[in-house]
Amino acid sequence: MPSPSTVDWSGARRLLRRLRDLMAAGTAAEERLNQTVRLIASDMVAEVCSVYIMRAGEVLELFATEGLNPEAVHKTRMRVGEGLIGDIAAHARAIAASDAWSHPNFSYRPETGEDLFRSLMGVPIMRGGRVAGVLAVQNKAQRLYTDEELETLETVAMVLAELIASGDLVNPSEAILADATAIVPRRLDGLRLNAGLAIGTALLHSPRVTIRQMVAENPAEELERLKTAVAEMHSQLDTLLTGSDVMASGELQDVMESYRMFAQDRGWLGRIREAINTGLTAEAAVQKTQNDMRARMREVTDAYLRERLLDLEDLTGRLLTHLSGAVLDTSEMPPDAIVFARAMGPAELLDYDRAKLKGLVLEEGSATSHVAIVARALDIPVLGRVTDVLDRVETGDQIVLDGDNGQVFVRPGQDVLDAVRHSMQAKAELKLRYAATRHLPAMTRDGQSVELLLNAGLLIDLAHLEETGAHGIGLYRTEIPFMVRSSYPNVATQTEIYRKVLEAADTRAVTFRTLDIGGDKALPYFDAGEDENPAMGWRAIRIGLDRPIMLRQQVRALIRAAVGRELKVMFPMVATVEEYVRARSLLDEELTRAEDRHEPMPERIKVGAMLEVPSLMWQMPQLLSRVDFLSVGSNDLLQFLFAWDRGSPRLSDRYDTLNPAVLAFFDDLVRKARAASVPLTLCGEMAGRPLEAMMLLGLGFRALSMTAAAIGPVKMMTRSLDARQLRPLLDQVMHRPVASLRGTLRNYARDRGIVL
Ligand code: PEP
Ligand code: MG
Repeated sequence: MPSPSTVDWSGARRLLRRLRDLMAAGTAAEERLNQTVRLIASDMVAEVCSVYIMRAGEVLELFATEGLNPEAVHKTRMRVGEGLIGDIAAHARAIAASDAWSHPNFSYRPETGEDLFRSLMGVPIMRGGRVAGVLAVQNKAQRLYTDEELETLETVAMVLAELIASGDLVNPSEAILADATAIVPRRLDGLRLNAGLAIGTALLHSPRVTIRQMVAENPAEELERLKTAVAEMHSQLDTLLTGSDVMASGELQDVMESYRMFAQDRGWLGRIREAINTGLTAEAAVQKTQNDMRARMREVTDAYLRERLLDLEDLTGRLLTHLSGAVLDTSEMPPDAIVFARAMGPAELLDYDRAKLKGLVLEEGSATSHVAIVARALDIPVLGRVTDVLDRVETGDQIVLDGDNGQVFVRPGQDVLDAVRHSMQAKAELKLRYAATRHLPAMTRDGQSVELLLNAGLLIDLAHLEETGAHGIGLYRTEIPFMVRSSYPNVATQTEIYRKVLEAADTRAVTFRTLDIGGDKALPYFDAGEDENPAMGWRAIRIGLDRPIMLRQQVRALIRAAVGRELKVMFPMVATVEEYVRARSLLDEELTRAEDRHEPMPERIKVGAMLEVPSLMWQMPQLLSRVDFLSVGSNDLLQFLFAWDRGSPRLSDRYDTLNPAVLAFFDDLVRKARAASVPLTLCGEMAGRPLEAMMLLGLGFRALSMTAAAIGPVKMMTRSLDARQLRPLLDQVMHRPVASLRGTLRNYARDRGIVL
């Protein structure tokens, strides 16, 4: 391609201005389209110029032509992917073929009379990342189209996209039906980050800027506007990097990465300037570059390169926002918004009106990303890693989000809508049944009282206490408020957080777990380094003991927050009694300090350890005599028992929680804790699964801590279970050489009418 400075774009600009005048004339849309193809054909010295528009069902229909048989208009239709025109639409990429007949995708349509034309140059008509049609010119002779001609045709296609979007040619509701990237199925798969179902209206997190004017009056002015917007964007990024707005490390790194990329990518800005030189406004030029980039992105399979292109896309969006002065206005949210974003920080999600937020779909995201944690607390379904979803969804599209099965349906058919409504209704009914058990005691049929507790980490979680009728908070993950902050919270801030938690819990007990960071839980302002096996690395109490100031400050805040009431504290990932003893003595030092200063004190203090590392099992006598309670963190415990990395997709179904070894382990534990009269709780995920909870109650657990949504189902199971009757079965099966007791236990429950 010639260097930008040597290209004379005056011809392209002249064509665009004529096109603009043509568009501005008040003639009917079809007529404008006919005049356009005539104008382009004569200007580009082509015998043929045709426009194909995407219709419902992913079909391209000939809408206007100069040079082909006029009878073929509205008759010639081709599927996306069929022939050269279909190929352009399928891949959203231009084709310039001097010998179209020898092109592998050539498909001959006799009704058009195109057998006379040897060469073809076509470009996709893109709108909002979708293919809305194809614009093509053809010549009889074998002609080599130049890069400038291709560029000009692409620019013209931008203007045509606006004409199509006006809705005067094709009914807009039909245009919506035509899924534009066409090759893309309407059901998209992703990674389940939070379960649940939602029907709603798509809302793109970065709103797509509507460009009102495509053709520039004065390119010099547009270049100046671009310069100003770029400067503004630079300065906003600087603030973002240094300011306190950035909530999470991941986000910070993203921005920095994009920033660096931007600084290096002169080519990107150069391409935008070039597009302005062809006669587009600055906004239209940015959008054109974005279209080109998206087309390139479809071809790129290398993960790293894709990431970089996505970063650039992000910047393009930012630049457009600066140019148009558009800002995200969450007040105009639809009442049933399903937000779509590439990636998002937790604070950004909380900017949305919670009453109207029904779901979240991300192109990126992982189970431990902060936005996923917040979304779980908001109890909305969340899907991550949905490839290219932003290219396939428009604000306003109807959406079915099936978090349970990791799928999102864009503009779903009636059958999907019916099925999902049905299942949502069934869930709602079930929820009502659970709600009805709220005030009923969690007691087994044989009269054993069970404590059902809540796992929490954000203040919003606490609302669930009342609504579920939970007895208290069995696990308050203190690291979560740390994770959503941009800097380390000092003692006063921490005190305030813990005080609010205790206030919300009212008379109910709260068990605070000291910081469990490291592993997969990173703090933006604390470098825990990198371990080869993070789950077994420098994390939790190991960090607390190596950074005693951190642990002491946290304990100090907890003591201050619990003035006049009971304080329950437990330490995570304790592997040796000695670790527990050291942690407890740090706590005792803080108590002494507070006493020495005559500070008001908690009424009572209970200190416990989490059983997450199997080694503790063989130190029970020493441990049990020193703790006030024990809490089993079964998520970690099971991964260490089986040497089973739960994060590994290849191993996700490898072992069953209902393996006899787990029963035998817990059986032993319950006996030991009971003999020492030490209260025992289990607070891992399995506590919230009715069948697993049934097994735990059968073994003798009497306190389980779980997510809010699990309380209802587990209570219904509890109330239908005779725990004493189950015991002999457990004794019998506990040592069987099988991989799972799931079937056996399920049959038992079914035969005795235990509600699972
Ligand atoms: C556990 O490991 O079971 C637990 C409750 O802790 P977390 O899930 O926070 O690691
Ligand atoms: Mg754990």
